[in-house]
Amino acid sequence: MAKKKRIVIALGGNALGNTLPEQMAAVKVTAKAIVDFIEEGHEVIVTHGNGPQVGMVNNAMIALTNEDASQPNTPLSVCVAMSQAYIGYDLQNALREELLNRNITNIPVATMITQVRVETDDPAFAFPSKPIGKFVDAAMAEKMEEKFHYIMKEDAGRGYRRVVASPKPVEIIEADTIRTMVNAGNLVIACGGGGIPVIREGNHLKGTSAVIDKDFVSCLLAKELDADYLIILTAVEKIALHFGQPQEAWLDEVSAEKANEYIAQGHFAPGSMMPKVQAAVDFAVSKPGRYALITLLEKAKEALAGTTGTLFHL
Ligand code: ADP
Ligand code: MG
Repeated sequence: MAKKKRIVIALGGNALGNTLPEQMAAVKVTAKAIVDFIEEGHEVIVTHGNGPQVGMVNNAMIALTNEDASQPNTPLSVCVAMSQAYIGYDLQNALREELLNRNITNIPVATMITQVRVETDDPAFAFPSKPIGKFVDAAMAEKMEEKFHYIMKEDAGRGYRRVVASPKPVEIIEADTIRTMVNAGNLVIACGGGGIPVIREGNHLKGTSAVIDKDFVSCLLAKELDADYLIILTAVEKIALHFGQPQEAWLDEVSAEKANEYIAQGHFAPGSMMPKVQAAVDFAVSKPGRYALITLLEKAKEALAGTTGTLFHL
């Protein structure tokens, strides 16, 4: 067997689905891919996105305020915490079962509710850009601006949506706890949905209305845990130059330097592939011997063996 690796696996939207039944079915497939790595002797830490789930929680909590006037609105940070617990529960449940199905009985599975600190002076706060929650009409948008102090923006002719800032993660508050759990041989799920965004006020950490990119925080966690690989699992097997165009060219491997050139040339869509490529580059350059992979969930094992996916290296 090849030398055991420490791997941070970042799960994208297709690893979790969009609804409760979809997620329950998706995590079974996801658990198989993750346990494949564990069976090969690797140490795995799981992170994940939460777009549809946090939208669902957010909408449910708004519905609650409409039903019961005494209920204040739920802060976005609390919605992220709820989504971490809900997704963590499904993943934890499916991973435990998959481990037992393969007679692996010595790896406990746990979810770490994770707070991630951002800076109040992050320029992202001046330009909220990340749309969340459902589309509403102009009248409703105005009402939500008044009632909840939301920033509502028209979104490509489809109606109005709330927009929030997407600041850079600077510190994973529970990093030491996560490290202790991983070093003790636990399979840990952490930093869900990019982490609960908090700002420091003396000893107090205050939840803030923002969404942290899960690819950036996964990179930070992989560095914190001194991982060998950051594997970002998404909806494409490899990244491409001229994506979706006639001259489309899929990349098997790319140096950090080349990747930065391709970013500058605009090959990767902002908000979807760009943060993944940036996170992959950031990890690959952080220390010799560190690599990042972007591939499909179903191809994760082959990608680590070097036969598919896009490999990022120094
Ligand atoms: P996730 O939920 O995994 O974060 P996203 O939808 O945010 O997934 O990002 C992955 C998507 O990025 C791919 O499905 C693809 O449609 C899109 N994409 C944009 N640019 C590229 C590119 N250059 N190469 C490959 N995929 C790209
Ligand atoms: Mg995404």
